Formats: sequence, structure tokens, C-alpha cells
Amino acid sequence: MIDYAVDADGIATLTWNVADRPMNVINRDSTAAFDAAVKRAIADEKVKGVIVTSSRPEFLAGGDLDLIRDIQTAEQSAAASGPFSATLRLLEKSGKPFVAAINGTALGGGLEICLACHRRIVADDPKIQLGLPEVTLGLLPGAGGTQRLPRMIGIRKSLPYLLEGRKVAPAVALQEGIVDEVVPAAGLLARSKEWLLSEGPQGAVKPWDAKGFKFPGGGPQTPATTQLFFGVSAQILNKTQGLYPAPEAILACLYDGCHVDLDNALKIEQHQFARLATSAATKNMIRTLFYSMGDANRLADRPKSVPTRRYKKVGILGAGMMGAGVAHVSALAGIEVVLLDTTVEAAERGKAYSAKLLDAQVAKSRLAADKRDRTLALIRPATEFTALSDCDMIIEAVFEDREVKADVTRKAESAMSADAVFASNTSTLPITGLAEVSSRPDRFVGLHFFSPVEKMPLVEVIRGKKTSEATVAQAMDFVKQIRKTPIVVNDCPSFYANRAFSMFPYEAMTMLGEGVNPDLIENAARLAGMPMPALALVDEFSLELMHKVYKQARLDQGKNYKEQPQDEVLVTMVEKLGRIGRKAGKGFYEYPADGKKRLWPGLAEHFPLAEEQPTLEEVRKRLMYSQSIEAARCIAEGICSIKDADVGSLLGWGFPAALGGAVSHIDTVGANRFVAESDRLAKAYGPRFEVPPALREMAESNARYHVS
Ligand code: NAD
Repeated sequence: MIDYAVDADGIATLTWNVADRPMNVINRDSTAAFDAAVKRAIADEKVKGVIVTSSRPEFLAGGDLDLIRDIQTAEQSAAASGPFSATLRLLEKSGKPFVAAINGTALGGGLEICLACHRRIVADDPKIQLGLPEVTLGLLPGAGGTQRLPRMIGIRKSLPYLLEGRKVAPAVALQEGIVDEVVPAAGLLARSKEWLLSEGPQGAVKPWDAKGFKFPGGGPQTPATTQLFFGVSAQILNKTQGLYPAPEAILACLYDGCHVDLDNALKIEQHQFARLATSAATKNMIRTLFYSMGDANRLADRPKSVPTRRYKKVGILGAGMMGAGVAHVSALAGIEVVLLDTTVEAAERGKAYSAKLLDAQVAKSRLAADKRDRTLALIRPATEFTALSDCDMIIEAVFEDREVKADVTRKAESAMSADAVFASNTSTLPITGLAEVSSRPDRFVGLHFFSPVEKMPLVEVIRGKKTSEATVAQAMDFVKQIRKTPIVVNDCPSFYANRAFSMFPYEAMTMLGEGVNPDLIENAARLAGMPMPALALVDEFSLELMHKVYKQARLDQGKNYKEQPQDEVLVTMVEKLGRIGRKAGKGFYEYPADGKKRLWPGLAEHFPLAEEQPTLEEVRKRLMYSQSIEAARCIAEGICSIKDADVGSLLGWGFPAALGGAVSHIDTVGANRFVAESDRLAKAYGPRFEVPPALREMAESNARYHVS
């Protein structure tokens, strides 16, 4: 795992090469091997200095999360992370100079090795990333990262790296003082050796291990830094609502650790690391953001027997908001696009949307002008269905109208090749029904994108009754090719994400109708960690659209339509008050031209406050439990997998990652407690809180959705 070599000049090279893994990772075996190699180099009298590098394209991509997944106690945490931290301290204080020759990306523990070395020399390659991204998975750098970085570059400057997981390329790392030199890749090892032989002997003591060390930019007790800590902790709380322990733990490491010497600081870091590694929030984040999302992105559940399909050309029907977005992301992935609409102007407008997005990237120097031109050239506006003849996939994004969709399906199918996939981006119409007009329903699938397409990473792959497994698999291939995350969903009204998510705004509207204070509703949503308060969200989405769906449901279901608890508020807002949402400048909020939006004071008149108001916790529970119960129903009905339900909730509607997703939320509360609470809510507020029998059985047998 660590190749060890000493040359004639007494320079030892420790080369990371974790051969049994696709990338160099830090795990029990590799850190033990590194520890042995470090000790060997220190003990070997012939060795004057040591280079740490890697034989892989990356230097070291970080820690193996399997290690963390199994941690249940502080002792186990110390056993998992302590030895590696100790190895780094050992090399730092060995008296022999160590250079990190950073040949590729160094993240997390990889960068921590570099920070412990006495010099950091990095190859001049802008693709290399350096950073400490642990916080994004609810962790903290547990091998000295929270202590060495602030001592090197200053407390203030270290904050974005530690609290936001900022990653930088070598040139920026040099400016920031994270590395000492950037050199051509070919000369990396030679320059490292040269430094060891010339300056190494004097350079083997870290500033913080020498007398009179001062923090760059001011120590923790200076007034400016004290002020900084106050400000940052308030900002963190505002952002996390106390749901995410990692940023708080990192700040505690910084504050407490910077008051003591490095050896004690590392103990503080270990203690905080254990706090995170054993916390439910961190376990939830790792499970869903790393494992489940990793599986979804790798298409782990895709049927293996179907050959992978690479798409070269896609036809998009309808160049409106969604069609234009899908065209854009397809072109970005290098796929040719025929963008078809009823008129040339409409099709061109769709292409112009992509031009606008690309221009903005060029203006920010994030994209080269020639790449923009090449991407745009891939999109061909069209009005004739014959243009679809050599497309591998057709994505339909015309009006949400069965007749219009049926018409374009027939026309497209008569023009397209026999093995092309036909996908509908409908948001509400079941795929099985839409496929009825298809001459090849086995090749008909749903691809439900979210708006705005270029920003939203999730796509639901909807399996209709007659959709073949091969079509589902190939639709997943397409989603992967355009670098989105697919989840597979069996056909049902509203599919999975919209179905479970809609419970959130519905519950908020129901509560408003009951006389719950709208401020209380909005604050409870915010404190629950939802990205936007519920009533504000309805305004953004538009009450008018919601009302349209409601009217359609009434029409479709006739006498069978069951009144929903939120209907009355919706009807009052749209039909009586004409407050249709943000785009009209009036909804649950008002939008003064000269100031910030605020809840419309008139709500008090139309939805008078109840005398007795519920607690914040009760409102929060109603908002969050309703979503999770609907997700549990989807699982019970076999609509999607447990993993996909969690991933879909995080990526599709911003369900708080600290809870792991709409299903993990139930595990986090404990099925038993969740069901008991739901029963109470059902009794108090209505049958929408009734849990499916499968969940009740789980509660009775003390089972969980996820094993760990
Ligand atoms: P839109 O009104 O912005 O665009 C529809 C486009 O289809 C228009 O440009 C229209 O000219 C074109 N069109 C209509 N009839 C056509 C025909 N016969 N041939 C070719 N083009 C035709 O609508 P949108 O918001 O982009 O939605 C499109 C589809 O995507 C709908 O099914 C919608 O339910 C679904 N969807 C929308 C969202 C969303 O947030 N807007 C999200 C997911 C899915």
C-alpha cells in the first residue's frame, strides 16, 4: 500500500499505492502501512529526508467512510481516527524533514498528510483539487486539519475551507499559503528532493512547535478573532438551525484548540470527531449523501443484463421552460439535440435559453467562449418531425394536456427509429395512460425532470405498466450521461417526489385554514431545515397552478372527488381573492416594490387566528411527518426503493440531509415513536397521518428501514 524506497542521497520516498482500491484511500490497512513506513524512515539512520507522494493520478482522495459507518461509541471513534492523527504528529515532530510531493488531488485526510509535512510542493495542474470537504458529510478533518490549517494561514482564512469544504486549485492554494510551491509535474520529485537536501535540515520544525509562535492574522484571544467567533457562530446557527452538528463541532475545535498547544488541540479535535461520528445527523448524511446517492449515480440497481447505451442525438418535443432546460443539459454533455416546437420562433427561443445560460458562464470566466459555441452548435431548432429520424431518444415536454401529448407521441413515433426510447416529462399524468397511444409501449418511459433543469440534479425514471426493463435501464443511462441522478419510480399519480413533497405545502395551507398563525407555520418550516417556508413556496410555485391541478382532479373524478383539507384555503385565495402567487405580486405574501416580501396582513381577516395556538414543535411535526408518512406509503406500495426515496427527497425537494431523507427520518425518530406520534396526529388532525400497515408492523417488531 505504501511503496518504500531510499536513494543513494538518503532520501526516502513513501509512495501511496492502495492497489486493491480504485483510488488511494485512508483506511485501517493503508494508515497502518503508512505508520510503519513513517517509523521505518524515521528510524533509518541513512534517511536524511522523506518525500510523501502517490503513484496514482490522485494524491489521496480522502478517508474510507466504511470506517465511520461502523462507529457506535467514542472508543470506536478514537480507535478509528486516533492512530492516523498520531502518525502525522509523529512525522511532524520526528526531526527529519518531510515533503509532500502533491502529484494529484489531495482531499480530506490526503490534505491533512500534506499539512503535517514540513513542506508542500504541488504539481502545476489546474485540475488538482486541494481541500477538506469533511463538513459536507457531517464530519470534520480528524487528523489535525482543524488545527494545522488555522496555524498556517490564520483562523479567519481557514474558515471557508473548514466550514464550507472549499476546494482550490494549486495556484489559489499557493496564494492562500496552503502550499509552498507550484512546480511543473515532471519536476515535482526532483524539486522535493532538492528542498530536502538544501533547506530540509533547518525546515524540520513547524512554527507552532517552535518558541514564540504567533497565529498569522491574530491569535484566538485578539479582539478581532473573538468578534469573529461570535459572528460566525451566529451565522452557523442561522444556516443549520442546530440540525447539523459538524460546523458547530469544527468551530469548537477552532476556538478551544487554538487556545492550547498542538498536542492538546489534537485531543480536542479527536473528541469533537467522536461526537460527530456517533451522531445520528452525520450517520444520516453519510448514508444518503454518500452511499445511497453514490449507488444512484453509479446505477447500482440497474439491470446488468442490458447493454449500456450511449446517446448521440436526442429529440426534444416542446421548447418551453422544461424542453429548453433539457436541451441545455444534453448539449452540455455533448449530445446533439433536435429542439422541436410548433413554430421556428418558439424553437429558437428554447435555444436562446441555453445561449443565455452559457453566456453568463463565459462572462464569469467559468467557460471558454469556444466551448460555449460548440455546445450551442449542438442544439438544432426544428418544427418538422422528420428531423427526429436518427435520434436515439425523444423527450416529450409539450403542454400538460393528454390530447397534445397523444398527438406528438404519434407523430414522433412515425418518424423515429425503431429502437429509440420515447420519454415523457409529464409531471402529473400517469405514464401508463400516456403510453396507451404508443405503438411500442415497451419503449415508452417517464423522465421527470425538475425545474430549473440546469440546477436540479434529480430525474425520476418512471416505469409504466408496459415499460420494459431494458427501456428503464437505458433511460437511466441517459440520466447518467447528462450527469444527473436517476431514481426509479413505478407509475402512480404525481410519481414519488411531488407526491410526498406536496404534503408539506398542503399541511401548511391546512393549518392556515385552521387558524394557525402563518408566521408560526413559516418559522416552523425554517427551523425544521426545509429550504423555503411552506407558504412562501406555494407563492413561488403559484397558487394558480395548484388550483388548476385541483380543478382538473375535480373534473376527472367527478362525484368520486374527495375534498382535501387544504382545498378551502386554495379556493379562497385564488377564486375569491385573486391572490395567485408571486408572479402576480400577490399570494400568501405581498411583494412591495420597495422592500422585502412579507406575509400579507389580510390573511388575518380571511383566516382568523384560532384562540389557542399549537406549539412550534407540533407545527414542525405536522409539516415533517406528513411528508415522511407519504414516503412510507410509497415504499409500502412499491413505488420506489428505500434508498431512492431518501435520495429523491434530498435532491428533489431539499428535505434536510441531517434527517437522511423522508424515510431515514422515520428511522431517526425510531419507528415505534414515529408510529405512536402519527397515531396521535391522525386522531387530532385527520387520516392523512395514518401510517401504512407495513410501517406499523415495523414498529411492532422494532425494525428499521435501513440496517445501519
Ligand atoms: P411550457 O408551456 O413552458 O412549454 C411547453 C412547450 O411545448 C411550448 O413551447 C409549446 O409551444 C410547446 N408545444 C405545445 N404543443 C406542441 C406541439 N404540438 N408540438 C411541439 N411543441 C408543442 O411548459 P413546461 O413548463 O416546459 O412543461 C412541459 C412539460 O413538462 C409539461 O408536461 C409539464 O407538466 C412538465 N413539467 C413541468 C415542470 C415545471 O416545473 N414547469 C416540471 C416537471 C415537468
